Amino acid sequence: MAVRKILYADNPKLRQKAKKVKVFGPQLRQLANDMIETMRVSNGVGLAGPQIGVLQRIFVAEIPEEDDDPLSGKPFVIVNPEITKRSAEMEEGQEGCLSIPGWLGEVNRHHSIEIKARTVTGKPIKMKVSGFLARVFQHENDHLDGILFVDHIKDPEKLWRVQTEDDGSYVFEDINALAV
Ligand SMILES: [Zn+2]
Repeated sequence: MAVRKILYADNPKLRQKAKKVKVFGPQLRQLANDMIETMRVSNGVGLAGPQIGVLQRIFVAEIPEEDDDPLSGKPFVIVNPEITKRSAEMEEGQEGCLSIPGWLGEVNRHHSIEIKARTVTGKPIKMKVSGFLARVFQHENDHLDGILFVDHIKDPEKLWRVQTEDDGSYVFEDINALAV
């Protein structure tokens, strides 16, 4: 496995629509493993292909274990996802993005969704996810269409800089340039 370089939000690749995965072989498995490793070392809960410059419809997700969500605490590799159902119920919650370090925002998402996708080996799957994992899936699925979480935030007060104790970690400064 290898840690891949994460692109920042001013990279035009993050604004492109990713293409469907057509070949399910050892290279895809390798890509998925690299994405999981990259997500974990970056302390992220999700990572999409375009974020490492791969314009293919694949994302990985893994949220910390929660007692009331049996899907938490395990890694998912989702290929060619299609959201087939979205709950009417919406929920506001905090989001960040590995491609926009140093920023958090409040984003309104569907509380639960159903998706149709393929596994890394090409097997068709259907999943129903809710709560935080549904939020992560919606965020990552957006990346496959060139959409960033900040695009959903219309009120500037709902987007804020994270206070870092000058630990030298990179902060994406050019947030206003992302306005669409
Ligand atoms: Zn993101």
